[in-house]
Amino acid sequence: MKDGFGREITYLRLSITDRCNLRCRYCMPDEGVCKRAHDEMLTEDEMISAVEAAASLGITKLRVTGGEPLVKKNVLSICRRAAAVEGIREVCLTTNATLLPELAKPLREAGVSRVNISVDTLDPEKYAYMTRRGTLADALAGIDAALAAGFERIKLNAVLIGGFNDDEIRPIAELTRTLGVDVRFIELMPMYDGGDFSPSAYIKADTVLEKLPEAVPESEPDGVARLFRLPGAKGRLGLITPVSSHFCARCNRIRLTADGMIKPCLHSPAEICIKGLTRDEMAAKMREAVMSKPERHDELSYSERSGAARNMNRIGG
Ligand code: SAM
Ligand code: SF4
Repeated sequence: MKDGFGREITYLRLSITDRCNLRCRYCMPDEGVCKRAHDEMLTEDEMISAVEAAASLGITKLRVTGGEPLVKKNVLSICRRAAAVEGIREVCLTTNATLLPELAKPLREAGVSRVNISVDTLDPEKYAYMTRRGTLADALAGIDAALAAGFERIKLNAVLIGGFNDDEIRPIAELTRTLGVDVRFIELMPMYDGGDFSPSAYIKADTVLEKLPEAVPESEPDGVARLFRLPGAKGRLGLITPVSSHFCARCNRIRLTADGMIKPCLHSPAEICIKGLTRDEMAAKMREAVMSKPERHDELSYSERSGAARNMNRIGG
């Protein structure tokens, strides 16, 4: 369906958990999430009802996210059931990949067609530092498993952080040639209490183009990403610029958090609760959420933090 500004809303990001096996410094605090009562979170059946409600409004694309979706015990069942919902044409998943060695193949079989994998550095020590408890070798094994499982498309997402990985732009971008996957650089967003970064950590995604002058623009953007390609690369290079240049005019999505809140806009505190509702009631609330999508979010910068009022692990990215 169209929102109040004529944007066709076709994409739901479904966060199935706010828990994670990592603690990325820009995403969530070291101590993890506050323990929430089981009955405060959406059940699997409620998630599927929500997907059905969304599909009835014209949502065709679903992204399963988190927290880390692969720490959720019933992730395969959720994906399988969601993929079978009439009207849902693709189920994608965003993950840190560390649990993909066991789960890549079953996810593919459950109907997940595409995966986005978050990996911000190819240096084991820097990876351990930024994720606070992860091991790069596990993430790389997960990428290999994803490649072997035959997903239609694999994208690697790297959050661009000045003084941390801006010296790795070329090696990360080269994965579009060596692995043939898409690579996207995402500007660091100043979330609620997501990290104690200095102003110099917030660098423009266009820095990527300064480091890769041979990158050739592709004619069409892919959703919210501006696309480029290195000569001879199979994979494409994407730049996502929520901070330096918002892409609200192309926004086609709503989000559902693991505790049952529809977020019409990532950077707004507005939320609409659908926990405990019937499928039809959920559809009515989603319609309300779509119609209340703001035209654009407020400016983001080091000093102007996101209005989301949640850390990213509690939204889903
Ligand atoms: N755990 C999964 C993962 O890391 O891919 C899925 C959830 S994670 C919240 C989704 C995406 O949000 C990841 O690509 C992550 O890098 C990104 N993200 C989290 N906090 C961010 C921030 N402050 N700025 C930019 N991207 C962020
Ligand atoms: Fe976990 Fe993903 Fe957040 Fe990292 S970005 S802490 S992997 S939810």
